[in-house]
Amino acid sequence: MDDVDRLVELMKEADYIVVLTGAGVSTESGLPDFRSPTSGLWQDESLMELLSTETLTSDPKRFFERTLPLLELLTEAQPNAAHRVLARWEERGLVKTLITQNIDSLHYEAGSRQLLEVHGQLRTASCSCGALVSFSQLVAKVRKKEIPPRCACGAALRPDVVLFGDPMPASFGQAIGEVERSDLLLVVGSSLQVAPVAYLPNMARAMAIVNLTPTVADGEAKVVLRGRAGEILSELDDRLTRG
Ligand code: NAD
Repeated sequence: MDDVDRLVELMKEADYIVVLTGAGVSTESGLPDFRSPTSGLWQDESLMELLSTETLTSDPKRFFERTLPLLELLTEAQPNAAHRVLARWEERGLVKTLITQNIDSLHYEAGSRQLLEVHGQLRTASCSCGALVSFSQLVAKVRKKEIPPRCACGAALRPDVVLFGDPMPASFGQAIGEVERSDLLLVVGSSLQVAPVAYLPNMARAMAIVNLTPTVADGEAKVVLRGRAGEILSELDDRLTRG
């Protein structure tokens, strides 16, 4: 029995599988992750300072002019095989909840609905008055040099993503509850270095990891499969459906 078969067995035995994904699940859609050695966005150290509430409020011109090209790139990608397999597993009742750190909406576009986007998403932008607009409306305002982009009430609009300095959204509390309820947490494409999401594996009863490179939690996992998420999840799906 190889490691793929071992994970297939774990998945068949589990009653409540929760999946946690990170930027690595979207690299096969052409999007950079944060920590891959040569292509990761973290090569650009200023990103952490740029993608912060501090820069958004103190220097909105710099925030929008520098971050918008990156945020727009994330909205232009298409789901890949890994996103599609995870959506199918939800449809079949195999996966109960999908927690993602990604803001690119690719799980949503692939069809996942039991989805907790704990770092937000790029479908909408919002105002402190409660109004919601589409992310593309916000982009259109910035393109017309309306910076900061304004809501009809006059206050500034912001993208609905969790910036450095923001509190975690309510969905993170739900994510903790789902991981505690699960009997298998499957982590796909995350270095597990970003807190507080990095604490979720400690709350899981059992965990398996699919990742291209070693992670800090490999020692705690029942199975670690090293490789590309699209290929490995497709192989898992084949073997699960073969029976
Ligand atoms: P990370 O960059 O820290 O880790 C990604 C991991 O995925 C790495 O260990 C890498 O080896 C692995 N990986 C890369 N390609 C892979 C593939 N094809 N198959 C399997 N594994 C692969 O990402 P993280 O842990 O998600 O933390 C980064 C933070 O950056 C998150 O908070 C996320 O919100 C944000 N981010 C999001 C996007 C996005 O929405 N697509 C992109 C970049 C960063």
